[in-house]
Amino acid sequence: MCGIVAYTGSSQAIPFLLDGLKTLEYRGYDSAGVEVLAQDGSLAGVKCVGRVSALVEKCQTRDLRSTCGIAHTRWATHGAPTDRNAHPHTSCDGRVAIVHNGIIENYRSLREELQARGHEFRSETDSEVIAHLVEEALRGPAAGDVVEALRRATRRLEGSWAVAAISADDPGTVACARKGSPLVLAATDGGAYAASDITALAGITSHVIQLDDGQLARMDPSGAVTVYDASGSEVAKPDTLDIDWDASAATLGGYDDFMAKEIAEQPAAIERLLRGRLSDGRINLDELDLTDDEIAAIDRIYVVACGTSLHVGLLARRFIEGWARIPVVAEAASEFIYEDVLVTDHTLCVIITQSGETADTLAAARKMHAAGAKVFAITNVLGSTAARESDGVLYIQAGPEVSVCSTKAYTAQMVAATILALLLAQKNGHMATGEVARRFRELARVPDLMRVVLDRSWQAKAAAREFVHAPSALFIGRGVNSATASEGALKLKEVSYLHAEAYAAGEMKHGPIALLEPSFPVVAIVPRDSVRDKTVSNIQEVIARGATCVAVATDGDEDVASLVERVMWIPDCPENIVPMVAILHLQVLARYVALARGCDVDKPRNLAKSVTVE
Ligand code: GLU
Repeated sequence: MCGIVAYTGSSQAIPFLLDGLKTLEYRGYDSAGVEVLAQDGSLAGVKCVGRVSALVEKCQTRDLRSTCGIAHTRWATHGAPTDRNAHPHTSCDGRVAIVHNGIIENYRSLREELQARGHEFRSETDSEVIAHLVEEALRGPAAGDVVEALRRATRRLEGSWAVAAISADDPGTVACARKGSPLVLAATDGGAYAASDITALAGITSHVIQLDDGQLARMDPSGAVTVYDASGSEVAKPDTLDIDWDASAATLGGYDDFMAKEIAEQPAAIERLLRGRLSDGRINLDELDLTDDEIAAIDRIYVVACGTSLHVGLLARRFIEGWARIPVVAEAASEFIYEDVLVTDHTLCVIITQSGETADTLAAARKMHAAGAKVFAITNVLGSTAARESDGVLYIQAGPEVSVCSTKAYTAQMVAATILALLLAQKNGHMATGEVARRFRELARVPDLMRVVLDRSWQAKAAAREFVHAPSALFIGRGVNSATASEGALKLKEVSYLHAEAYAAGEMKHGPIALLEPSFPVVAIVPRDSVRDKTVSNIQEVIARGATCVAVATDGDEDVASLVERVMWIPDCPENIVPMVAILHLQVLARYVALARGCDVDKPRNLAKSVTVE
């Protein structure tokens, strides 16, 4: 993870660097730092543990006037979150500074080798070796050319990186390199910019340059950006992307936090995603880019994802198997990578990743590609690595999701997976056109159903009281809502730090029921569906142990209301739609519990939004 920004040009660098870090802070917030080319020609920097706001304060006490600099907000992988381990890292002579996003897997041997040649290390990070390698190359074969020096340095590295480097020996130039971690650049009249993702370039350009793996870039104070391949030859036509900015998307717009804003944005996001997806009773999903014959021949689907996106995968499995009758395996990408999976030319891999940069998911997709499978991505971020490396991509169009805990991307991904399942079922003939249209009309009700639930946020707010002082919580649900239980528990633990566990309701008696004691809070997702009565029996088991049960139930289900402590009501809706609607109560619940426990809901500890390391 980590966020990187860099600038060289005719304006002061610090305002962009600090603003850029604030925008990228969702990528990591263990520490932050900045290094500039000072007016006397030396390098000057400030770094500190903690949030970007701490760095901003510290910068005010220093003279950092400069038109060239690099900056970083860290999510630690190697070395604790301390001042010393904060980036930028400098070389022994202090004339080179680098920022790095990724992991240098062979850093130990490089470090030993560099130490044997007299280099002194100041941090415990893997990243610092890059500064020393660049320093050596600058003194030797690269002779004062920081881009060439970085190219030579990266030839020694194994692992993943997005790097920006500056040197007092090549004043005004910023060198960039990328392999496996994202980096985008902008060439403008006012200067050249680099950032880990396009959000930091909003308002600067609508035309970004995307570095491919193995490429490097030279940022020049004139504003020019030159891209090179790994052998050092200039790339005549680098990859570019035009962006249609919605400047309001990444601001709070009157909400107290991004989590609240993004929960509220869900109905509009789903409306956007559904627009134009059904015509003449047929699902439009040209992005899949498979012929009817290829779809008919699919023998197996792997849905691979991490965290919240994996919960979408669990639902995708049910929908695709149930409707299109194709066997589906849904699995965590970090496990999948190391498995001996069965792949044929007719296997489809569906990856789900909000950021499109989730390292484990990308590794899984590359493995599937190499084995001959087609890869289809469901992602939110335009031009992300997942989008670029897949055979087809469905953008969920949810707009920037800033809060680290995913809300609107979760529901939009669920809708996207449902559209995919309907398309597959229609194309391979397992679902008649009339039935597809009926299911799509059900899906089209989701935004309004969500609005009803959002109007009832007070119910989740009231239920939150049962959790604030609890030691732990259990979430139970059956069928499609076992995934809802998993997602509800994940939301609660990630934002409120309250331990929460999810179990398929029928499995509770095989273990977790031992946890229950008076006032232990249990959330039961019990809509009026095909398994409702079974779940009601599980609620009885909860109550019999004196635990406190809070239910998500369908309007009018007074039997459930009479059993439990509190109810969060959802409107009556079809079984497959419930997960997209019920989860809103659980998102709101998690937020209120977190606020009552004094937690920062947008930036939970130890987490980062886009997990770009394996
Ligand atoms: N490995 C580097 C560090 O720990 C960068 C981490 C990252 O990109 O997430 O400082």
